Amino acid sequence: RCFSSEPSLQADSTEENGFKGHGMLAPFTAGWQSTDLHPLVIERSEGSYVYDINGKKYIDALAGLWSTALGGNEPRLIKAATDQLSKLPFYHSFWNRTTKPSLDLANEILSMFTAREMGKVFFTNSGSEANDSQVKLVWYYNNALGRPDKKKFIARSKSYHGSTIISASLSGLPALHQKFDLPAPFVLHTDCPHYWRFHLPDETEEDFATRLATNLENLILKEGPETIAAFIAEPVMGAGGVIPPPKTYFQKIQAVLNKYDILLIADEVITAFGRLGTMFGCDMYNIKPDLVSIAKALSSAYMPIGAILVSPEVTDVIHSQSNKLGSFAHGFTYSGHPVSCAVAIEALKIYNERNITEHVQKIAPRFQEGIKAFSGSPIVGEVLLCLSFLFNVVIFPKNYMFISCLNTNLCFSMQIRGLGLILGTEFVDNKSPNDPFPAEWGVGSLFGAECEKRGMLIRVAGDNIMLSPPLIMSPDEVEEIVSKYGDALKATEERIAELKSK
Ligand code: PMP
Repeated sequence: RCFSSEPSLQADSTEENGFKGHGMLAPFTAGWQSTDLHPLVIERSEGSYVYDINGKKYIDALAGLWSTALGGNEPRLIKAATDQLSKLPFYHSFWNRTTKPSLDLANEILSMFTAREMGKVFFTNSGSEANDSQVKLVWYYNNALGRPDKKKFIARSKSYHGSTIISASLSGLPALHQKFDLPAPFVLHTDCPHYWRFHLPDETEEDFATRLATNLENLILKEGPETIAAFIAEPVMGAGGVIPPPKTYFQKIQAVLNKYDILLIADEVITAFGRLGTMFGCDMYNIKPDLVSIAKALSSAYMPIGAILVSPEVTDVIHSQSNKLGSFAHGFTYSGHPVSCAVAIEALKIYNERNITEHVQKIAPRFQEGIKAFSGSPIVGEVLLCLSFLFNVVIFPKNYMFISCLNTNLCFSMQIRGLGLILGTEFVDNKSPNDPFPAEWGVGSLFGAECEKRGMLIRVAGDNIMLSPPLIMSPDEVEEIVSKYGDALKATEERIAELKSK
């Protein structure tokens, strides 16, 4: 959970619950945390809220792990699961045997993805497995085409694609590599498209996107285009800190990929099914991928399921070469699990019936603007724009807000990263991207703990904090998140002032 890496500053807001020193090797948790602290034990959920084992109520501002799009107790999903459990709890999909829910779900996914025509759907149990499967599928495809050298993948710094050996290798976060002997040698990483952090002085967003596309092309040429199989990207980077792409980025990247016959994989594990206010992230940015990974909101996380969408060009090669290559010998016992598929079919029905993208478009502005209103905090920082004695607010382009102001001795500004119902905030010192707080202060963690104290759960990664609430949130719940965010921010500022005065 979100605590300082420095035990003396740990902000343990969890009450005694008897589970300290439990027997679980906990994912993404430091050993000392699971040994010395009480875990937060969540017992039940209701709409946008979860309750811990002591009965404390939290607004779930991360929707589980960016995933419970329909909130905590959607009766139709529960009924879909129990109906399927009573009828056929399990049958597999190997050797041309399968179940009706998996066939129906594949068709439904294909009909909902309209950014371009897709050919087939392959089912997995998770987003990591989806991205692992992408790599094997692409290798199989290039073997089928007689291109045995075209096997390398390019991913981006700060991306998150999962935590299995391959998907962690694709990810661009050092913590997933260090101590695990990763990344695997066939994975290369290119620039993170974070304009605020990485643009050059006087470089516009468009120029920044051009430079990144040129860097990508140079990397491809250096490695040899005949060795590069695919490029993978989240439409909006999630766990790396909620980083929407700069204007024209995907257009320019796609032109480079097309030039060298490199497949584009859109990792839509977070962005699919309405998170950005469009059904898919590819719709938002006019991305025409060859392959797409989905998971999370596919079943609103009620059952584990992921999937990959495969373009007709790729499936045609795989099918036409099957005499030469034999069967596509890849799959999981639970690929297309009928209970997961039944729940996912119902979730997709609900997204369509309730017009989930319209709902997100309706509530997102208040969510984004409500939090942006805290941009004056001296600890939240992005782009230093100090314009003499003027106070000005410039909104450009639609996903960014820059506020600059001068008061007696403080010059600060802030970029809100986010759109739709996903939002990230980065805490920096001295209002500069190049001035992080001392890591041992764990500023992001302090903020996370302040939220938790006030009954709100968020995601912390270093000094980035992230929100990705259920898509079904009501306007009142949006207000609650905004208000708890503000209170937690104030408390964090006070903690930092104390730490600075020591
Ligand atoms: N891709 C992205 C973009 C993700 O955000 C995640 C999970 N946060 C994954 C892949 C991995 O999914 P899973 O945890 O289901 O394996």
